[in-house]
Amino acid sequence: MFRDKVILITGSSQGIGRSIALKFALLGGKIALNDILSQEENLKKIKEEIEKLGTEAKYFFADVSKLEEVEKMVEDIQKEFGRLDVLVNNAGICADRTLAKMTKEEWQKVIDIDLTGVFNCTKAALPLIIANQGKIISISSLVGERGNFGQTNYAAAKAGIIGFTKSLAKEVGRFGVTVNAVAPGFIETKLTENLPQEIKQMVLKLTALSRFGQPEEVANLVAFLASEEASFITGEVVNIDGGLAI
Ligand code: NAP
Repeated sequence: MFRDKVILITGSSQGIGRSIALKFALLGGKIALNDILSQEENLKKIKEEIEKLGTEAKYFFADVSKLEEVEKMVEDIQKEFGRLDVLVNNAGICADRTLAKMTKEEWQKVIDIDLTGVFNCTKAALPLIIANQGKIISISSLVGERGNFGQTNYAAAKAGIIGFTKSLAKEVGRFGVTVNAVAPGFIETKLTENLPQEIKQMVLKLTALSRFGQPEEVANLVAFLASEEASFITGEVVNIDGGLAI
């Protein structure tokens, strides 16, 4: 499905990003992996896994919150692969604390990576994506739609992605580019593993399917949105939460 297409997935050394990279590789795409320098070991492993699937992968270090690093990454992708068709804005962090206790630094770091990171990567990649009538998919969160105790910074960033997605979809639709977001509920990754047991139990109780989601399930949705089967879908936010939002 993605033969000869190049897909950049930010924050793809682990978790949801890693699963998205493997899914696109299984579908024949060439994979541009990204993460920060400290994730080199993980990136090496996933590059090897992808090569075993019979396609190409290269990794590019860049902190998505730094525009110069992101611009260099996109230049390098153009040099190495000669094109870019799909951008998946996946890199994200959280730094949870009630607003009363949240520091300016905790606010700013989450906004810089989770929201400005999406601006930086999309801005740098847009000319290449337009050239190929490509696709942009960003990972928002159910928390961006509904809010969550202790996550004003994260919720603001993830809600920002939704406004960004809808606005950009209106700007670039005339070039044949689609822009969508996905909003996961609770997915089992490093980001969620250390949450207190009582929070996990509460989420489980509220989830219609009575289980947490797996990164591969998010990857399936992202691959669909990036495929020609989703060619008339743009400006959408698709929830993937096992019924948590019902
Ligand atoms: P994860 O396992 O922590 O993966 C996120 C990756 O992004 C990590 O490898 C992380 O590296 C990397 N990263 C962090 N800061 C970066 C930066 N400045 N530049 C480049 N890469 C950076 O988390 P995940 O659960 O897979 O989350 C992936 C996305 O899904 C995030 O946007 C998250 O907000 C969203 N999401 C997750 C859930 C969930 O339940 N898991 C729910 C809704 C939305 P380090 O580990 O070294 O920081």
